[in-house]
Amino acid sequence: MPLLSKLVFRSWGLGLAAFLTLSACSLPQTFQSVSPARLNSAGANSGRAQVVRLHWRNTAELAELAGSGMDLFGIDHQQQTAQARITPTQVVELTQRKIRFDVSQVRGMEDARQPLPAGYRTYAQLRQQLQELAAKYPQLVLLEDGGDTWEKTQGKADHDIWVVTLTNRQNRTPKPVTMFTGGVHARELAPVELLMRLMDLLTSEYGKDERITQLLNTHEVVIAPMVNVDGRVQVEKGNSWQRKNTHGTGVDLNRNFDNHWNYQGLTVPDSWKRGLSDPNGEIYSGTAPASEPETQVVQALMQRKKPAVFADIHAYGELMLWPFGYSEKDVPHTPVFKQLYQETVKSLGFKGGTSTQILYPTTATTRDYAYGKHGALSMTLEVGQTFRPTASDVERMWTQLRPSFLRLIEAGGQFGRL
Ligand SMILES: [Zn+2]
Repeated sequence: MPLLSKLVFRSWGLGLAAFLTLSACSLPQTFQSVSPARLNSAGANSGRAQVVRLHWRNTAELAELAGSGMDLFGIDHQQQTAQARITPTQVVELTQRKIRFDVSQVRGMEDARQPLPAGYRTYAQLRQQLQELAAKYPQLVLLEDGGDTWEKTQGKADHDIWVVTLTNRQNRTPKPVTMFTGGVHARELAPVELLMRLMDLLTSEYGKDERITQLLNTHEVVIAPMVNVDGRVQVEKGNSWQRKNTHGTGVDLNRNFDNHWNYQGLTVPDSWKRGLSDPNGEIYSGTAPASEPETQVVQALMQRKKPAVFADIHAYGELMLWPFGYSEKDVPHTPVFKQLYQETVKSLGFKGGTSTQILYPTTATTRDYAYGKHGALSMTLEVGQTFRPTASDVERMWTQLRPSFLRLIEAGGQFGRL
């Protein structure tokens, strides 16, 4: 056990003196030391959460921690570590279970409240830019209001879930559809930006770039770049850790879809389910399948568009996840997913597999619903290495991922449905 972990493990309740000792220790290079004042103010006594790196001992334990509703991210299967944003109650729980953790914090994740980083567009800007795009390229772009967010259904805010369809609209013969969603989890900032760049690319290069012209002549691309608008606006207001929507204590939309909701109809350990029914946890699944307006909007869109390929863009971890999240078993299209993975993000260092294989077990996700209910070749891309990359990092990610997005559009219609 490294000295740092040992100290934290034993001394959480000792207060400032222990933290002063800790801050003098040398920290691993990827972590920055945290000032005692900050740790004290965000520490166990104040009731606020803080970010730690914990050391899980086996995949069953990781599955249990994730299933408990703990806010886990940055899972590293080689090192058997994960980042976690833990509450004082969870500190006690981890300590009791003898699960080690370091208080070292990841750069850029120190504060609960932070403004939107420079270079990111707000929801209001996104809405305006989509309207401008539709006005500029009427022959290529159809902008639709996909439906209301929870806050709008309550008369609390004017938030709509925008859906953009891009295709050569002169050619009205039915075309295979590739669909993308982004911003299902509010704090994951890069996916929204990447999808906005994809729309810019497809429109500005149509008629200039041969491949893109051909793609839009023969395919339809449907993009909902910001699904969880209510949550995203919270992030813009400084609630940088907001993941869920804003209904009550928040529902994790990516556990709310109507496909084995709460693992219904499946035989899984009870420990995987605990957090799904905890309204204060980060994976609270709501009161019923598709209980949330945002989920209903995405489900209705899939029902209407019948995508051949579907990609839900999340952050972070550099993973391509394919169905089903609750199992390590192959599905009929596993060979196709493996092929697409090899043709897209594998060379960028992404890992590929089901969530149970390479992350932790999940259910009722957007991805599983798209495959399980609509037979779409469906995947989640976890992009980047942080929730809040700098604008120049986003630019680099876009340059790297652009060919993969185009390949996924092209894959529409190339493979059979489920
Ligand atoms: Zn996510």
